Amino acid sequence: MRKAHASTRATEVREISKPDEQWRQELTPLQYSVLRHAHTERPFTGEYVHNHQDGFYRCAGCGSKLFSSDAKFDSGTGWPSFDEPAVAEAVELRADNSLFMRRTEVVCRRCGGHLGHVFNDGPTETGDRYCINSCSLDFEPATADQEQGDGETGQPGTARG
Ligand SMILES: [Zn+2]
Repeated sequence: MRKAHASTRATEVREISKPDEQWRQELTPLQYSVLRHAHTERPFTGEYVHNHQDGFYRCAGCGSKLFSSDAKFDSGTGWPSFDEPAVAEAVELRADNSLFMRRTEVVCRRCGGHLGHVFNDGPTETGDRYCINSCSLDFEPATADQEQGDGETGQPGTARG
């Protein structure tokens, strides 16, 4: 019973919702400025720009699985680039008209963290180029038993004990 997505109203209710101060403590200063304040890391500085390992890229804020290495390509822009999300529902697209440009912002649906932008000049058949900040991602190398695809075990960040 999934209704068609029509986002006319920005909802601030997130599965993962934390006070700003907590984000500030849990994230590195760079991650905090990118994820929570939509800043952009400097090109060619992120650790995943030239990462060609197989695996999944998770949200550095909440651990949600966002992109697969299968979708990663070398765009030459200096930021990790993907032609599609691993799970369509994991990301949310929002119009971003800041900096006098019309762009589409990519945010993590689960925690609302800013990831980057998506452009429609991708080189593959999807036509999309998700231009994502390295620091907003956590790379998880593929292991042999990941074929099963049990993505929801071991969620980080839940308060225990
Ligand atoms: Zn997230």
